Amino acid sequence: MPNLSNRRLARVFGIDIEFHWTWLIILYLFGYSLGVYFSHAYHWGLWVAWTTAIITTLLFFVSVVLHELAHSLAARRYGLPVHTITLFVFGGVSQLTREPEQAGAEFVIAIVGPLTSLVLGAICLGLAQLGPRHVPVIASLWWLGAVNLILAVFNLIPGFPLDGGRVLRAIIWSANRNFIAATHWATRIGKIVAVLFIFYGVVMFFRGQGINGLWIAFIGWFLLTAAEQSWRQTEVKSALEHFTVRDLSNPFFTTVPPDEPIESYFQQVTDSHNYRPSLVLTDGDELVGVIAPVDLRNAPRPQWPLLRVKDLMVPRARLATVTMDEGLMEALEKMALHGVSQLPVIDDGHVRGVIRRDRILELLQNALSQNGNKAG
Ligand SMILES: [Zn+2]
Repeated sequence: MPNLSNRRLARVFGIDIEFHWTWLIILYLFGYSLGVYFSHAYHWGLWVAWTTAIITTLLFFVSVVLHELAHSLAARRYGLPVHTITLFVFGGVSQLTREPEQAGAEFVIAIVGPLTSLVLGAICLGLAQLGPRHVPVIASLWWLGAVNLILAVFNLIPGFPLDGGRVLRAIIWSANRNFIAATHWATRIGKIVAVLFIFYGVVMFFRGQGINGLWIAFIGWFLLTAAEQSWRQTEVKSALEHFTVRDLSNPFFTTVPPDEPIESYFQQVTDSHNYRPSLVLTDGDELVGVIAPVDLRNAPRPQWPLLRVKDLMVPRARLATVTMDEGLMEALEKMALHGVSQLPVIDDGHVRGVIRRDRILELLQNALSQNGNKAG
């Protein structure tokens, strides 16, 4: 999901809780159907029914966030920082910066989510025993208890990328010590589960349970796409596993001194037709920033005679760099994170070259087509 459309709701334990616009749809659907349900089931007045519905819906999303926080905090414990939790149309997702490197870590990170929902469900149902069912607080607790249990069970379905699929992958992984094969199995089962969802949803739809059927089919379609995507990611990861930045680092790159006037930098770019970013190096070959023609847009043309490269460059502090020994996957991830297509390669404090995304993708394409030939 593009981060641009996400809005921040809160910040807990240093983790941003964001929502994607699609979450507003589900928020509305839940609130609306709960309001209708409460007013019909318990014959409350409109005001009581809708207030209870709104509070219950909000509490439901608090429990979704708690489920995700459990994943995030467990991931952090294993040294995999999580910066954001995003709420979207199918619930919540914790954005792990990396995949866990050990089966044990993956198992714990995956299982704590459903366990949290299970405990929350049990607490709500336990508290619901304290009063008669038609009291708004008790009715709300019953509903929250049931929904959290459903959430726990749904997430434990053993199809990747659901929590249950991750648990399954961790188990296969610890048994055969092969992450790729384990992922292959878990995503394959995930696809089967997804197809069953779609099939069941379509059957329900034609049996007259229109909206529910469509919803289930839609969840199936989402699971199918997610399983395919995770598998492709793993394929990419394994194809790039044996290469480092050293294999593709290019020692030829354009440089420009920080005190170069912008006008003359612009002249060089237009004369050479080289629109790639240039490294800004001092006399002592120290990297102080990167400038690209696109950075010139940050200053209006009339100001150019007054400016130098160092005024418009992206300074070193905001630059991502790689070392020769870093993996190509890490380099790609850094590029994606910083929205750039090339990175300076630095070793022992000196610039050794640059690495470009198109070169990595070329190598990846070759590696993947060779894998394909082998499998075929
Ligand atoms: Zn989960």
